[in-house]
Amino acid sequence: TEKLHIVGGGMAGSEAAWQAANMGVSVVIHEMRPKVGTFAHQTGLLGEMVCSNSFRSDDSEQNAVGLLHWEMRAANGLIMQTADKHRLPAGGALAVDRDPFAQSVTDALTSHPNISVAYGEITALPEDGHWIIATGPLTSSSLGAAIAAETGAEALAFFDAIAPIVYFDSIDMSKAWMQSRYDKGETEEERTAYLNCPMDRDQYEAFIDALLAADKTEFKEGETAGYFDGCLPIEVMAERGRETLRFGPMKPVGLTNPHAPDVKPHAVVQLRRDNKLGTLYNIVGFQSKMKYGAQTDVFKRIPGLENASFARLGGIHRNTFLNSPTLLHADMRLKSRPNVRFAGQITGVEGYVESAAMGLLAGRMAATEILGGTLDVPPATTAMGALITHITGGADAKTFQPMNVNFGLFPPVEGLKGGRRGRKDRYKAYTDRAKADWQSWLAPQAQAA
Ligand code: FAD
Repeated sequence: TEKLHIVGGGMAGSEAAWQAANMGVSVVIHEMRPKVGTFAHQTGLLGEMVCSNSFRSDDSEQNAVGLLHWEMRAANGLIMQTADKHRLPAGGALAVDRDPFAQSVTDALTSHPNISVAYGEITALPEDGHWIIATGPLTSSSLGAAIAAETGAEALAFFDAIAPIVYFDSIDMSKAWMQSRYDKGETEEERTAYLNCPMDRDQYEAFIDALLAADKTEFKEGETAGYFDGCLPIEVMAERGRETLRFGPMKPVGLTNPHAPDVKPHAVVQLRRDNKLGTLYNIVGFQSKMKYGAQTDVFKRIPGLENASFARLGGIHRNTFLNSPTLLHADMRLKSRPNVRFAGQITGVEGYVESAAMGLLAGRMAATEILGGTLDVPPATTAMGALITHITGGADAKTFQPMNVNFGLFPPVEGLKGGRRGRKDRYKAYTDRAKADWQSWLAPQAQAA
């Protein structure tokens, strides 16, 4: 049979190689380190964790990333089983002893009879053969240029600019309202596409003070090259003048508050629908380098968001990622070059676990194809399926930014209480459903093996 070539031996590439090799396919991992480095990686090991040593929550009943752990363990995931082996005490989180972790991942792959590692940089998109590109947020510049030439420059980003995302059902609609500026739009849905949160003068001034005082994170050395094409962090806009935001993303024009039609708001924060399901809203223009704790403190000052829960907080990072909703098929093949799949953070997921998860799927799909079969995308009711469905179609292509796994990506379970109070039961229902559906997706593959 034909070989599977995987570019990048990080979280995604390592997992993809393991899955495909265990299905009997021979795999070549092309890894540029240690010959060519990145500003964040320190070693030449496969599966290196570049920053924190946490895989986040390990709670598979109440947390979406914990559920993703569970699904990967059930699929004999290398990244998860190695993390479990090198687990450090961290309460409910899965923290990992990073050096032995990466060494174990490297040993497992290099000693696998179906895997070989070719150390060196890949600089062009392959013409033929079966390939998975999993080169991550710090894809080398020559390969980045080759990908941009294929996809069009506007479809490959080199920085993310992530605005915080709020669960719709945690927004106080007795204060907020739905309306597009100047009621623009052809349909009722478009005329009410935005969710608005009003501020009076005192609230606005206090909000600016809080932004200016908040703890910020700094860029790492080597991280900023090519940054700032027009997307400033919200706190940097505030630093440029106290009125800048009122004339920028918080301008109050063209909007009427139905809760107080006679009072003109001094400023308005707008949120835009973030997924087709309508469960997630992002705060428009609020990309931020504030520390996470500071972000929740500051954003909860926004009227209507006092009790907001955040599906993710804002950020700006060096991050090479595709506009996957336009470029990729549902099974992660590049539409313009179907012999190439993408996996990991470059597909627009965010985080070690999510990246490894997309590697697991891409590895299984590519191997199945080489073996002459086809593999359905897992159902959107599973954590794996919810993520891949979001990046390849559920997300809005125009505003696409990297995504962590979260329950807002799952189709709702009918007949359950919404809001904060029903949350525990709701999450349990999501995770029970996901586990059952994931097992059903896995079962025929185990039989085939
Ligand atoms: P990576 O793990 O980066 O693997 C990609 C691999 O491809 C690398 O080994 C690289 O050397 C190789 N490569 C690149 N280009 C080429 C080429 N042309 N030819 C051959 N090989 C190539 N996530 C978290 O969950 N927690 C964090 O704390 C966190 N902190 C981060 C901090 C920084 C500075 C950065 C940049 C990212 C951080 N991330 C964090 C995101 C993290 O990078 C991803 O979650 C995860 O590592 C992505 O997995 P991946 O396999 O897609 O990419």
